Amino acid sequence: MTDGADWLDLASGIVAHDAPNPYAAVVPPIVQTSLFTFGSYAEMEGVYRGEVQRPTYSRGLNPTTRIFEEKVAALEGAEDALSFASGMAAIASTVLTFVSPGERIVAVRHVYPDAYRLFETFAKRMGIAVTYVDGLDEDAVARALPGAKLFYMESPTSWVMEAHDVGALARLAREAGVMTVIDNSWASPVFQTPIALGVDLVLHSASKYLGGHSDVVAGVVAGSKALVGRIRGETHPYLGGKLSPFDGWLLVRGLRTLPLRMKAHEAAALSIARRLKSHEAVESVAHPGLANALPPGLRGTSGLFSFVFRDGVDVVRFADTLSTFALGVSWGGHESLAVPGAIVRAQAAQPNSALAFGIHPRSVRLHVGLEGEALLWSDLEAAIAAATL
Ligand SMILES: *Cc1c(COP(=O)(O)O)cnc(C)c1O
Repeated sequence: MTDGADWLDLASGIVAHDAPNPYAAVVPPIVQTSLFTFGSYAEMEGVYRGEVQRPTYSRGLNPTTRIFEEKVAALEGAEDALSFASGMAAIASTVLTFVSPGERIVAVRHVYPDAYRLFETFAKRMGIAVTYVDGLDEDAVARALPGAKLFYMESPTSWVMEAHDVGALARLAREAGVMTVIDNSWASPVFQTPIALGVDLVLHSASKYLGGHSDVVAGVVAGSKALVGRIRGETHPYLGGKLSPFDGWLLVRGLRTLPLRMKAHEAAALSIARRLKSHEAVESVAHPGLANALPPGLRGTSGLFSFVFRDGVDVVRFADTLSTFALGVSWGGHESLAVPGAIVRAQAAQPNSALAFGIHPRSVRLHVGLEGEALLWSDLEAAIAAATL
């Protein structure tokens, strides 16, 4: 994390839209209602005609989820944001708003596995073509873009942590007349604000860092009023993947500590990644912070990275010896987690992007949580010792 100016910007995002609450409560209420009533025919008619904006039914607008959306828009430097019941609901709704049968998506390789499955199954069944490119190879990206409808980005990617020059890729897409979407879940708006880099729409699995406490599954997309408005008007109400008021409330609470959590994840994960890199049992570590420099626009690094053990290390024993690190998918919460790549490679869900994109059989993905670096390193050290006996 860099200088004070970033912190000021973030603080203004986090307190954005903190209106006075009923009873002068410091925390906004959970407006747990499906519908909102009207005092008169004229009032109801005004809302239905679109002359007055106010909640009618919580599949559309709900005051609690709206606070979350306004804060995310402020944090991402976007005009508007729209929340969803999951990150995948945000991805599916966004893609299906802008891409029609007969059109083509270009996606960076190594995208989140279920986004890949959405492309390879549902999108292809609808007659949408998807081609994959190496986001580090700008010539290949420039060659793939002409004629495409949407460039789907994710940086850094969430297994091998490829960190792209997002601004340069967005420029290539703009020159080719292709709209851009990026999955910004790994960096969070604390470390990367893609709208400022020229990307059209930014989406998150809010289940990860935005929520931060592993107690909610949610998604959000942010961008211009016009583009977010199209998602709100064309797919969000009809696919119906709406965020619940209680989940919206949990996310508003989670956002309060986002910069502090990200700073702690960054420091502990970087230190552990460096120690792993110099450990004799480890062949390689994939963590963007170990490169000479971060790509332009990436201001810091989060708690998620992976590494590959040397041949002969017993990964099963390593996994079974861990105690502070739990074995589990997802990430972005307070708790530290490990996922052996061999298990992802053997995953039954099809098509299996792990095989398509070469997750190494001796790799392990770690999410470094908030338990404290000393405890976490001693856990890893003991597990590696057991695995190399
Ligand atoms: C988890 C995840 C998603 C999907 O989000 P859900 O909230 O689980 O639907 C999308 N992208 C990335 C990078 C993720 O890690």
